[in-house]
Order: sequence, then C-alpha cells, then structure tokens
Amino acid sequence: MSKQLRVAIIGSGPAGIYAGNILHTKHPEVTIDLFDSLPAPYGLIRYGVAPDHPRIKGIVNSLHEMLNAGSIHFFGNVEFGVDLTLADLREHYHAVIFATGAIKDAELNVPGINLDGSFGAADFVSWYDGHPDVPLTWPLTAQKAAVLGNGNVALDVARVLAKHADDMLKTDIPANVYQGLKASPVTDVHVFGRRGPQQIKFTPIELRELGEVENVDIVVYEEDFGDDWFDEDAEGVTNQHRVMARIMDEWRERELTGASRRLHLHFYHSPVEILGADGKVVGIRFERNRPLADGKVEGTGEHRDFDVQAVYRAIGYFGSELPEVPFDDKLGVIRNVAGRVVDQTGNTVAGLYATGWIKRGPVGLIGHTKSDALETIENLLADIDQLVDPVSTESATAELQARGVRFTNWQGWLKLNEHELALGAADSSHVTRERVKVVSREEQVAISNLKD
Ligand code: NAP
Repeated sequence: MSKQLRVAIIGSGPAGIYAGNILHTKHPEVTIDLFDSLPAPYGLIRYGVAPDHPRIKGIVNSLHEMLNAGSIHFFGNVEFGVDLTLADLREHYHAVIFATGAIKDAELNVPGINLDGSFGAADFVSWYDGHPDVPLTWPLTAQKAAVLGNGNVALDVARVLAKHADDMLKTDIPANVYQGLKASPVTDVHVFGRRGPQQIKFTPIELRELGEVENVDIVVYEEDFGDDWFDEDAEGVTNQHRVMARIMDEWRERELTGASRRLHLHFYHSPVEILGADGKVVGIRFERNRPLADGKVEGTGEHRDFDVQAVYRAIGYFGSELPEVPFDDKLGVIRNVAGRVVDQTGNTVAGLYATGWIKRGPVGLIGHTKSDALETIENLLADIDQLVDPVSTESATAELQARGVRFTNWQGWLKLNEHELALGAADSSHVTRERVKVVSREEQVAISNLKD
C-alpha cells in the first residue's frame, strides 16, 4: 500500500472494534482513530447486553485486547455531527467507517402507544444497563406487565422484569437499577408473539434460562400448541428450533411451583390497542390469530383484553440517521452496497463506509458483525487508489481541544475500568461483584480524565 492511510471509525461497539482490528491486521501501518459519543467504549456490549448475561458480556475481553494493543486509538464523549462534523473528518482521514448500531425502538402504530406505562424495550434496556443518557429512575410500578415480541430482546426484558432483584446483584448493575428492581411490585409478566411457538426468534440458551430463573414459574397455554404443533418438515427448521420445541414441551408438562412471580408465554396474539384510563396504561387488546401455511398467520376477528399496567414493545430495533450521511428511513440503515455508502441514486459516496447493524439492520448475534466488518474493510481496501488525501496528517484531536470537547481516551477508560472494578470489590454487603458501573456521563468523564 503506497498511501499512509488514515481511517476514522464512528462507534466503538463490537462492529467498530472488529472493523478496526481487521483493518489493522491486514495493514498495520494504517492510522485508525475510533470515536464514540459515550465516554466509555464497547457500545452494545456495555449498554445492550443484559447484565445477567456474563457469557456475552465476556466478549469485552477480546475487544479490550484489540484496543489495548494500542493501534486503534479510542476517543470517547465525541458526538459525530456535533463535536466533529463529516467535513472535519474528511480533513483528517481518507475514509470514515460508520458503526453506530441501531439503538432506537421500531415503531408500533396502535392506539394508546403514547400512554404512560407504554415503553420501548430499547429505553428499558438502556436503563438497566446504566446508560448515561436515560433517567436514573424507571417507573416499575406495574403488578402485571406485557412484553410484545418473540425475539431475544423480549426475553431479556421479560426476564429482567420477572427476576428477583437480589438475583441480579452478582451482575454489574448500578445501585439505582438494583433499587428500582427491588421495589418492583410485579407478579406477572406476559410475553406475546403474533405468530406461533414454531416461529419464535429466540435462541435456545436464552429460552432455556428463562425456565431456570429462581422463584419464577413459566406458564404456557395449551391453546397455542396442540399435539402436532411442531412441524419437523417445515422450511427452515434447524436444530435450534428442535431444541426450543423440546424446551417448550417440557414446560407444557411442568407443574407450577407456586412461585411468587410468573412469566407467561402467549402466541398468536397481535396487538390492536393499548388501553388507557387517565392517560395511563390499564390493559392491552389483542386479536387472536390462527396459523396458515409457511409460518404465516391470519386474524380470527376475536379480540382479547389483558389487564396490565405496563406494555414493553420489543419488536425490533431501528437505526438512527446521522448528519450528512445518506439514510434509508424505511430500513433504518445507512444507504450502502456491501458496506460502501451510496447516495439516493445508488452512486458511491467516496470515502464513506458502514458496518454492523447500521449497515445491515438490527438482526444477528454479535459474532455476525465480524464477517460484516470483513466485507466492509475489503471493499475499503479495494478502493484505496480512489480515496482522496486529507489536508491534515494529524488526528482530529486538535479540533476537539480547540472546541473545548472533554473527550476521553484509552488511558481514561483504563482508569474508569479500574474504578468500576474497585466499586465491585468494595461492595461485599451481598455477594462478590466483579464490577459496579458508573452511570453519570459527567462522572465517567471526570474519572477518565483524572491526572495520574
Ligand atoms: P428480532 O429477533 O427480530 O425479534 C423481533 C420480534 O418482534 C419478532 O418476534 C417479531 O415477530 C416481533 N414483531 C415485529 N413487529 C411486530 C408487530 N408489529 N407486532 C407484534 N410483534 C412484532 O429482534 P430483537 O429481539 O430486537 O433482537 C435483535 C437481534 O439481537 C436478534 O438477532 C437477537 O437474537 C439479538 N439479541 C441476542 C440476545 C442474546 O442474548 N443472545 C439478546 C438480545 C438480542 P415476527 O417474527 O412475526 O416478525
């Protein structure tokens, strides 16, 4: 490679870090600066994966090594489009890779969606994961709650709602989250899928663990099954589906234990309206569906009301538009072809790339972002001769300093990391805790910028 390539990556979740690491592995001489709007790195792993999923959170260890090696330079608390514009980045870098993920909730257009007590799963996930931009308190006042959707986010939300707060204490939840969960009066969490038990988008480990939550009974309803409910020969049936079918068959046979909380799984229910009184959720109305061929369903015309005081929609995430970057607002992704950003007419926008959920939409597990990043990086490297040399040969940090942006860096994250681990070690009142997260942005920035 003849050019001394300089690349900026926006977003320090798995997608951005994998892209940086692949680029560095292929071409160690490339300068890679990684920017994030949050003071700490790791995006979805820190702020999207449920705290009681340490196996998935453990991916952080390999991401940490990739950043700790020193070839990818992390800058946190830098908002793209505000602290650094696209024009700024073009002055410093040959290419910009957007890896900003998808953190908004997909919309659900039913009457009552804006009532008090109707929530998007993404916001609740942000709260229990200690995201600095959501309020510290969450109104956990419902005795009965509905969760809409049959994907893993619905399972996370339902499990966290149903789990007894003390069972969350070995995780990294901040104190405000523990206190909120501890005060929750919830007794029943109802999860609703619009299609059948064969069409779930859960994965087996996540489904199985639902049945292992302490002092929570799983309730499934015979009307959703019937003897031959699982069709082995249906298109797309995998071993994962077979395992999940066995799990649900076990639950159908299981006696209730009289646990203090129940988690109900309902199928063939399409949400029609969220019912309210005095501006607050008091129930939810569904239309009962029946199965058709090919995993599709149709409405039966029968309506059913459930008495709940909170509704969480976990019906998929949606990407957010970035200033000056072509966006497909139907799909919620940056317009791109195999990671090369394109404009509305399909022409490539030189020097701009996308990877991860903002490239292909919010589906797939974290590991899938690796192959995604590989494709984007290969295309970037194939374009190298067309990339325009930036006017500057420096990082954009001088601009940030001149603008008074209080950015963090890798050394700062190491300090914050140590601080959170020390908080975990110091909290010996209950159980051993590996970490307690710092929530406030100000506090995170202050700890990161402490002088040695
Ligand atoms: P998802 O897997 O796409 O599931 C979305 C669910 O919402 C589907 O059941 C879908 O039903 C339903 N839905 C969509 N529109 C609806 C509507 N209008 N009314 C009722 N239901 C509706 O999405 P996700 O749960 O947000 O997960 C995103 C990705 O992250 C997935 O790949 C997931 O596996 C991954 N993830 C993994 C974990 C983990 O622990 N391993 C945790 C969280 C997320 P239809 O199928 O009928 O469309």
